[in-house]
Amino acid sequence: MSRTTWLVRNELDRERLIDMERRLQPPRRIAFAVLGVALVICGPWLGWWTLIPLALAAGLFKLADARVPLARRPELGMFLAWVGSEVVIAGSVALGGGAGAPTLSWLAIPVVTLSARFSGRGIAAGVAISLVLLLATALGVSAGTVVHDPAIVLTPAALIVAVAILSTALMHSDLEHRNEALFDELTGMLNRKALLTRVREIEQQTSISGEPVAIMLADLDHFKAINDTFGHAAGDLVLRDVAGLMRQQLSAVHFSYRLGGEEFIVLLPGVDRAGAAALAERLRTAVRGGTVDGGHHVTMSCGVAASDPGAGFDYERVFSAADAALYEAKRTGRDRVCGGAGAIPIVA
Ligand code: GH3
Ligand code: MG
Ligand code: MG
Repeated sequence: MSRTTWLVRNELDRERLIDMERRLQPPRRIAFAVLGVALVICGPWLGWWTLIPLALAAGLFKLADARVPLARRPELGMFLAWVGSEVVIAGSVALGGGAGAPTLSWLAIPVVTLSARFSGRGIAAGVAISLVLLLATALGVSAGTVVHDPAIVLTPAALIVAVAILSTALMHSDLEHRNEALFDELTGMLNRKALLTRVREIEQQTSISGEPVAIMLADLDHFKAINDTFGHAAGDLVLRDVAGLMRQQLSAVHFSYRLGGEEFIVLLPGVDRAGAAALAERLRTAVRGGTVDGGHHVTMSCGVAASDPGAGFDYERVFSAADAALYEAKRTGRDRVCGGAGAIPIVA
């Protein structure tokens, strides 16, 4: 089951967050070093104590880095560390004179990272928290200055909002580019390139965890007849709708890929042969019972195979076994699942 929270939309986003945190660590260290050097240079005017909140913020992220990969909901810990860093900056602004503090605009720095980490709601919450902290420190410590010159608060507020908008737009454009490279345009399923990347990841993960990994292969029955009778374009729409019917049955963690033509593959880490056969049966029934574009009814044959628990996942070997099971499903009459219980296990 996928564990979504208001900060991440699905398991894929959560994986992206963990990956992003890892990539953010080196530039974040450099950014903290730059800020540290600035504070040392400005020490005579700002006060050396300003280095303490900076060290505190760096410590918060270090703590989050150590815990995030192990947490069930890493996004919550990361969001807390993020809020903590804003509170620390706000605290040093308050101690440094409130609205007049030269570091007031530094509240915009953590905002840059919001869109790389969290969903739309997480970004909105982060911006709201930054604005509230900005107003609270400026008005709480130096209301008189703000009333006399509101620009002191309005300009950093605009900076926070503008940074959030621009970084979110950049992030979306980057994701779109990456999606174009990884998704099959017709079916919306992931493509072969994405498959190979995921296979390597699963091979690494399961060499540590020892979990079984199942593969389900599916191929539409007599699909050539649809193309021959109704044309290639009609065949394309059928493929698109079959992919939709399959996706409705799959959870967010069961990634489905278009291998090519009218052949699909589903990778199932943590699932054994019986589990994969049950899922394949559900998909087969959904495709058989569904109606696709043009009112056609299509059927699908499936082959499943899985690595043995503790044996490690060898993609090529499990794939060949699933392919042999698919061949068996075609040979014995189509519209069926082969390779589940009773199938010959893959031997080392
Ligand atoms: P079987 O039950 O044995 O699988 O019969 P089949 O007719 O489905 O045979 P096969 O899987 O070998 O043929 C697949 C056909 O799918 C051949 C090709 O014309 C068609 N095809 C492959 N890619 C596409 C595509 O992107 N769009 C369309 N419309 N047809 C495709
Ligand atoms: Mg085929
Ligand atoms: Mg076929």
